[in-house]
Amino acid sequence: MQKRLSLVIVGTIFVSFMLLLIVSTVSMRNFGLKGAEEKAEVIAELVQDGLTAHMLSGTMDQREFFLKKIASTKGIESLWVVRSTSVIDQFGKGFNNETPRDEIDHQVLKTGTTYKKILESSQSAKLRVTAPYVAKEHAVPDCMKCHEAKEGEVLGLVSMVFDIEEMRNNGIITSLVVLGFSIVIMTLVFIIINRSMNPLMALFESINYVMNKAQMGDYTRRVRAQGKSNDCQNVAFWINSLLDKLESSLMDIESTIKKFLYVGPSHQHDPLVQAQNIVHELSDIYQFKRTIEFDECKEEVYNRIGTILVDTFGLKDFALIESGKNAIHPTVVFDAMQTKKGADPTCRALRTKQAVYSDQFKHICETCSHIAEHYLCIPYVISNEFELLLSIVASSHEELESIKEKLPLIQNYIDGARPELVSKNLMQILKVSSTTDALTGLYNRKYLDEYIEKALAQAKRNGVIYGILMIDIDYFKMVNDTYGHDVGDKAIRALSKILKESIREADTAFRFGGEEFLVLLYQCEENMIENIAQKIRMTFEKTPIQTNNGSTFNKTLSVGAAIFPTHSDSIWKCIKFADIALYNAKENGRNCVKIFDPQMLEGKEMKGEY
Ligand code: GH3
Ligand code: MG
Ligand code: MG
Repeated sequence: MQKRLSLVIVGTIFVSFMLLLIVSTVSMRNFGLKGAEEKAEVIAELVQDGLTAHMLSGTMDQREFFLKKIASTKGIESLWVVRSTSVIDQFGKGFNNETPRDEIDHQVLKTGTTYKKILESSQSAKLRVTAPYVAKEHAVPDCMKCHEAKEGEVLGLVSMVFDIEEMRNNGIITSLVVLGFSIVIMTLVFIIINRSMNPLMALFESINYVMNKAQMGDYTRRVRAQGKSNDCQNVAFWINSLLDKLESSLMDIESTIKKFLYVGPSHQHDPLVQAQNIVHELSDIYQFKRTIEFDECKEEVYNRIGTILVDTFGLKDFALIESGKNAIHPTVVFDAMQTKKGADPTCRALRTKQAVYSDQFKHICETCSHIAEHYLCIPYVISNEFELLLSIVASSHEELESIKEKLPLIQNYIDGARPELVSKNLMQILKVSSTTDALTGLYNRKYLDEYIEKALAQAKRNGVIYGILMIDIDYFKMVNDTYGHDVGDKAIRALSKILKESIREADTAFRFGGEEFLVLLYQCEENMIENIAQKIRMTFEKTPIQTNNGSTFNKTLSVGAAIFPTHSDSIWKCIKFADIALYNAKENGRNCVKIFDPQMLEGKEMKGEY
């Protein structure tokens, strides 16, 4: 850059000098020639006047001396006069050398016009001037007084050859001097430009390099100023200060963000653009967190995470599975799985609580390998109580790799959702505990009231039949009285355990009160009810209950059963009928099962009510 600039300046000066040189050489030459021509005119006139004077004074024969004298003038190489034929006719040939010497003399004698020509060769430079003497009647003195000639007739001529080589040499020397001078000037200009431009150019190149690096995301380079120029030092200082500030701010942003956001490997090498992306990401996560704060339950949050995974991360084939200590676990909480996988507890990631990628090892997870070739399962610990498993199926190895790159961002969303998931889970637990009996872990009366409405609506819609068992321990008061209240509790717990083990997942057992239990048997045919009730009765009968002194005893129970909607299309009435059947069982010797029969209402005060 600097060399180019110097060359342009020096070149311009050189061309200007050359033009000046040519112009001055040409004008010097013209000036020299003009001088020589003027000299020739003066000499021609002088010769004419001299010859006229000789003629008038009658000393024409002495003219040779005069001519030689003039010819010896500095710069004149040769000089001769020529007589015209009319003069020769009138006055004779004159001296021998007064005849035309060459074609030019003949030409001028003939035409009467002055001839001028420069004769140049490498060795010499000459100016030939041949001027005619023309007869003029009114001239002073009058030519016609002596010459028998007509007006305008050529009487003779004078030919002169001037040596102009010295003039030419002077021109060349001047040009050389100018040339030398211009070379010296140009060298000086070149040195001055170089010296004054050097620091500027170095600064310019350094800025160019540093900015280029910054453009590519490397803000660690600094501008270096050479020389002592204050301006250069200032420019470098301000640019470097700006870069320092930019670099330290970016580092600060990065380290601050890393404290609460996982920043994964990025293809973006420019920390400024990276920071911008992170800020966008932060804002998205902040918005996501604000939204889920107002979600009602865990399921809604899962739904939102699932939607983000589809919309923002472009996942197509995946499921979110909640797993934990709860009996319902593992369970699919968001299903976008094209190949249905379900919540299989044998899934390796669920078992080991570690991320599983299909490319880690061939068939690393037996369960997932059956479904797809490319998959990844990432467990996220949400709290001590439960984890969230993201199970993704990829269509190719490339897709698997690209999903892996998205995992840090997904992690940020899960991290953002964690506090809400934990608190919503706690809320759910609290709600469950208010509907659960602390002694047995079974649902309480309160939950029965809530549940029964939902169950009933569904039952009526789908034509579901419920078997209702009302169970009561026989002579339970005696247990309390004989062994104490805590042993009584033990017996209650033993029965609740038997209930849980005897019924299916769709069935529900409630602690109805004291040592009384209610069981709702889902879609239970009439003949099945007695079987289940008998199974419960017999199991309890055989279950030994430990007393505080280590001895054991056995108790029996009675069961009353009714069927909804067979016995009544009101579930509460059916529950009452089951209670009546239970009363009937108690009346009939206890330790037995009685199915409700409308005859049981015989003699009852409430008969009329039913
Ligand atoms: P029956 O065969 O007629 O049912 O005789 P019973 O003695 O069982 O009579 P009843 O059902 O009226 O007795 C209920 C007793 O259960 C009264 C109460 O002391 C006792 N009980 C109620 N709740 C609890 C409890 O949570 N723990 C203990 N240990 N006893 C309870
Ligand atoms: Mg009882
Ligand atoms: Mg009772």
